[in-house]
Amino acid sequence: MQKNTIYILLVEDSPSDAKLLHQIFLHADKYELKMQHVERLSQAINASLTGYQLTENDNFDNSSPLVKFDLVLLDLGLPDSLGLETLKEYRAAVTDIPVVVLTGMDDEELAMQALAEGAQDYLVKDQITVQRLVRAIRYAIEREEILNKLRESEELSRKALAKEQQLNELKSNFVAMVSHEFRNPMTIVRTAMDILQNNAGLTEDRKSFYFDRVQDSINHMLQLLDEILFLSRSEAAKLEYKPALLDLVNFCEEITESFQMQVGDQYNIILNFAGECTSAYLDEELLHRILGNLMSNAIKYSPPLKNIWLNVSCRDNMATFKVRDEGIGIPEKDQNNLFQTFYRASNVRRIQGTGLGLAMVQKCVDLHGGQIYLESQQNVGTTVTVILPLNYRVGNENNS
Ligand code: ATP
Ligand code: MG
Repeated sequence: MQKNTIYILLVEDSPSDAKLLHQIFLHADKYELKMQHVERLSQAINASLTGYQLTENDNFDNSSPLVKFDLVLLDLGLPDSLGLETLKEYRAAVTDIPVVVLTGMDDEELAMQALAEGAQDYLVKDQITVQRLVRAIRYAIEREEILNKLRESEELSRKALAKEQQLNELKSNFVAMVSHEFRNPMTIVRTAMDILQNNAGLTEDRKSFYFDRVQDSINHMLQLLDEILFLSRSEAAKLEYKPALLDLVNFCEEITESFQMQVGDQYNIILNFAGECTSAYLDEELLHRILGNLMSNAIKYSPPLKNIWLNVSCRDNMATFKVRDEGIGIPEKDQNNLFQTFYRASNVRRIQGTGLGLAMVQKCVDLHGGQIYLESQQNVGTTVTVILPLNYRVGNENNS
């Protein structure tokens, strides 16, 4: 029957004790005990970190001459360390090898303390027999394995709990934000309706002012609902990428014209093309969300009378869209978080927004298999670059 090999590091400064243990090792018939012997704690730490060094006598078919020790037999009184400190120092340096402590006859209390400090077992030197030694070794290794498994499952539970907490936090942020975002426009609608109902003598101008506010608030709530629905569809993986042939020139002209109509002469929107952009294979609805959000951000976060650029280039089967503004910019510390839902930069002040736009843009870019980059400098401006492959297929089947 083939014996199991157990690799042991013996840390013992007394030559006679070491010799005795050696003799006992030779009689362990169930296991083949391979031992390496050192006398100092520093050597023990080094050897543990390096591993058992196979010698010519060890017949091994493994190409690596180093094997991890299964167990350390540790005498606590060494030339470079004494008592419990020896174990503590060893444990601090080496965490994954079980330790059995070697003590003298009158050191029972020390042995108990050693167990409390993480030793797996102890052996009283003068009472060591083959059976005791083998049993201590086997139990120590088994216990360490169980402990490691426990540690692993604890780590898994900890991670799952952290994830759940994060999700709960996101959900409550979401609910708080949504209630807040809806409360504002609802209050505006209610107040405007009250005024319209209870003031018969309002001029036509004032009436139309209040009707406009009601209209704006309703539009705002509809947009908010739309964004929330879109994001929840994408979270539930229910959003589909449906590419079709698209004339990017027409498409971008329509978008910029519609924004220019909305902002009148407050902003100047400039559209540029490079390369052949008349036939691109992209998802029109998703692209509309991408460019719509980037353009609306560029306008929203720029003071009036500034330029907004949409530069489109189609080359090497890639469409690149650059939306550039000369607005308030984004502080560096916020730039990495902007694609998270509800995150807004610290310099937005009273500019309205929910922090959902870029999260949505990111989802649409991902569905295209594309990339998005943002460069920004506070009080100078922002450029967002979106690169979309023009022949992207989900799973890349038929990619030609
Ligand atoms: P909405 O959901 O209505 O789009 P939002 O504009 O606040 O709300 P995002 O579009 O996700 O949300 O943008 C997140 C944040 O990034 C913004 O709140 C703003 O702080 C910053 N940001 C985005 N684009 C720009 C830009 N062009 N200039 C300056 N800040 C920007
Ligand atoms: Mg936005």
